[in-house]
Amino acid sequence: VIGKISTLLLLLSFLTCGRFVGIYHTVEPGQTLYRIALTYKVDLEELKRINRIEDPRTIQPGDKIFIPGARHALKVPPTVGGYTQEEEKTVSSLPQERKVKEKGRERKPPGNLPPPPSLILPTSGTLTQTFSSKEESLHEGIDISAPEGRDVLASASGRVLYADNRLRGYGNMVIIRHEGKWATIYAHLKRITTKEGEFVSQGEKIGEVGSTGRSTAPHLHFELRYGKTPVDPLLYLPSLTGKP
Ligand SMILES: [Zn+2]
Repeated sequence: VIGKISTLLLLLSFLTCGRFVGIYHTVEPGQTLYRIALTYKVDLEELKRINRIEDPRTIQPGDKIFIPGARHALKVPPTVGGYTQEEEKTVSSLPQERKVKEKGRERKPPGNLPPPPSLILPTSGTLTQTFSSKEESLHEGIDISAPEGRDVLASASGRVLYADNRLRGYGNMVIIRHEGKWATIYAHLKRITTKEGEFVSQGEKIGEVGSTGRSTAPHLHFELRYGKTPVDPLLYLPSLTGKP
């Protein structure tokens, strides 16, 4: 068991967690997701993915859009009458252009992995930091801000591989091994309420939100991994936006 644990722990890189990067932009009448992306200089596809928006035209005044990397709300000029033809064209051509823009040493998102077990939100709260595999903003999980002591639940059923605070930076941390090579990681816990080797069912309490380790405020750092490969949990989790 020790061998297995240390293998997995070695794969965890330094924690780059605890920074609050991003704000919520409240959509005002006439604002399109395209204009919002343009104003904040963020990738439209990323905005869609993070906010789980399939069709950007469905956003409505009052919707809260999480803008990763933004620190202040900006004024977004309204588009009269929805999308202009030019915007429509740009929006539909963005997925192709994105590949060109993403150069540098970013690791490719895993495209050929088997699907993970179905995941539930490990806690309720506000998404304060998203997943990033870019060198300059590496964050191999997501941060969910929540009050200290709020229950942290097993996102999927599995065996507890690690439940300790031996790893610097992560504080009290739980790693659950799921079917296949999938694992979920829960860090900065105030308290751990499970034990190594125990089998936990999806939704079972494994700990409480805290601020242990390298952390500035109570939040849950949550990771999803396939073997050693970190995978963006937001691709598989129910939406977090609008659930403070
Ligand atoms: Zn984090």
